[in-house]
Amino acid sequence: MKTIPIIIIITMLVALVPLTLMADDTTPDGPAATTDSRKTTMTQPTTSDSGHDITPLTEDQVRELAARLDPETFRVTQKSGTERPFCGTLLDNKKDGTYVCTVCNLPLFSSQHKFTSGTGWPSFYQEYDPKHVKQIEDASHGMVRTEIECTRCGAHLGHVFNDGPEPTGMRHCLNSASLQFVEDGKELPSLPLQPGYQTAYFAGGCFWGIEHYFQQGPGVIEAVSGYMQGETERPNYKGVCSGTTGHAEAVKVVFDPQVVSYETLLQAFFLMHDPTQLNRQGPDRGTQYRSGIYATDDTQLAQARAFIEALETSGTYRGPVVTEVELANTFYPAEDYHQDYIETTGRSCHVTNPWPRLKQATGSDKSPSTPAKP
Ligand SMILES: [Zn+2]
Repeated sequence: MKTIPIIIIITMLVALVPLTLMADDTTPDGPAATTDSRKTTMTQPTTSDSGHDITPLTEDQVRELAARLDPETFRVTQKSGTERPFCGTLLDNKKDGTYVCTVCNLPLFSSQHKFTSGTGWPSFYQEYDPKHVKQIEDASHGMVRTEIECTRCGAHLGHVFNDGPEPTGMRHCLNSASLQFVEDGKELPSLPLQPGYQTAYFAGGCFWGIEHYFQQGPGVIEAVSGYMQGETERPNYKGVCSGTTGHAEAVKVVFDPQVVSYETLLQAFFLMHDPTQLNRQGPDRGTQYRSGIYATDDTQLAQARAFIEALETSGTYRGPVVTEVELANTFYPAEDYHQDYIETTGRSCHVTNPWPRLKQATGSDKSPSTPAKP
């Protein structure tokens, strides 16, 4: 083996210092640069003993994946956030299967090694594959702990302690938000890179119909009903309906910008509801039914504002547009029975299907090339 000149080693070490400083989780914008490994590791493909590609992703790849996360998952995985104990969705999951990274889908833990620790966070006494979970010393919050992160994408997972059960004595303490559960018998998902999906959030009154028609849009990967822009954490339908939590019924729309533009989604949104009604839509009244656009970045924010300005000057509406435009806060998916509600129940809805009109109006738009889903 060739000897590396000492000067190169020193240069590399010096180069690492500012990268380590950049890893501070208080970085105001964008995904935190969590580790220096992504920047310094050569892109030679690396395969783990269990046969998975654990080549560290580039910063751009991580940014692309992180842009699809909901704000809570973003906070936990990209800003080293911690969810409150006994609140994570996977704490009491007793099913057999694999827990994969919520950002890059790398298998991280197995139900075989899960145990009830009583701490309020999902706990595992060993990793799916030790090479999939990276340990880093964490001296934040006035104590020295060992942080764990996904080897491939650098997502923050939680911490590991040496007070676990036999045979390892280890306790990997996880945030549910960092994990996705894949039940045995289902195929493990692959790395979700390309085609570069984006996320948009809209509130236009009762979410059932808004979700239903966004879901039918060409280029829309998924539409999910939920609650956002409120004051409390983990709201439920009853709380939101009381009008005291401050949340709006909103819909998360994951879309492929190669097929449908954000601009087209804005058009669809305004065709679906009446943006001049303050805190109501149709028969539904209350701040939870307000009209809102919640942008995931400054580009969306500017586009939404410009769109509304153009609407106002066009004289489309008699009254002023009262739609609020803000940066998105945490989106909380609504209870399962609210998802696909119109489709499941066969109930009709006062929201109009915007897509036939959009196809007529924007014949040159990219979207008609892809057939709408049934
Ligand atoms: Zn990952």
